[in-house]
Amino acid sequence: MLIAGNWKLFKGPGEAGSFARALAGAVDTAGVEVAICPPYVSLAAALEGTTGSDIQVLAQSVHWAETGAFTGEVSAAMLKEVGVAGAIVGHSERRQLFGETDETVARRVEAGLAAGLRIIACVGETLAERDGGQVEEVLRRQVGAVAAAVGAHAQLVIAYEPIWAIGTGRTAAPEQAQEAHALIRAVLDVPILYGGSVKAENALVLLSQPDVDGALVGGAALEVDSFAAIVEAGRAAAATKG
Ligand code: PEP
Repeated sequence: MLIAGNWKLFKGPGEAGSFARALAGAVDTAGVEVAICPPYVSLAAALEGTTGSDIQVLAQSVHWAETGAFTGEVSAAMLKEVGVAGAIVGHSERRQLFGETDETVARRVEAGLAAGLRIIACVGETLAERDGGQVEEVLRRQVGAVAAAVGAHAQLVIAYEPIWAIGTGRTAAPEQAQEAHALIRAVLDVPILYGGSVKAENALVLLSQPDVDGALVGGAALEVDSFAAIVEAGRAAAATKG
């Protein structure tokens, strides 16, 4: 069970450090893995703030090249040098706003894993694709691209994040999440997180689904109390799953 918080473009170094320290004091990580994903400039402060705890610090992306003319990008070796444990790759905001494709996502996943990072690769359909009955086709294509590049790598995690549920307050029904996760697992058998308006109030029922192995949390990861409550739900769900 992994509960990961995606901070997106929130929390500079000062806030990241104090948040990380407060979170480390607020969560019990026995039986659950906890990760936070700050912006690049806040990674060092988050690492310092989590020192002595089991909380992992992951970046929000990673480039496939080691060095080169790639303005604005950061390599896996650079993340490792800072002490970062892994990275999110292919978040829908990266795909929709910054031109990421299945191919660039696969290249980033491959390079990150090869460097020894843990990678959370994001997939998920738009509302139009869901309404058009294309969920299976989209997920098979997106997960298939990752599977073709790296297979069921031990350090790979998939996050199923239906785009219509991200930051909208609209959550997939537990049955919808379970159905999508089972489909993904049939293509690539690695841990699968659900993401999309996960909150303290809905976390337990989502995390209790048999093929939901954790959560990728956006908005509710920005406050210590709400994120800690989701971590607790993860502990409870993990305990009942055994
Ligand atoms: C996300 O950005 O990965 C996400 C799931 O956001 P939210 O929880 O705010 O919907």
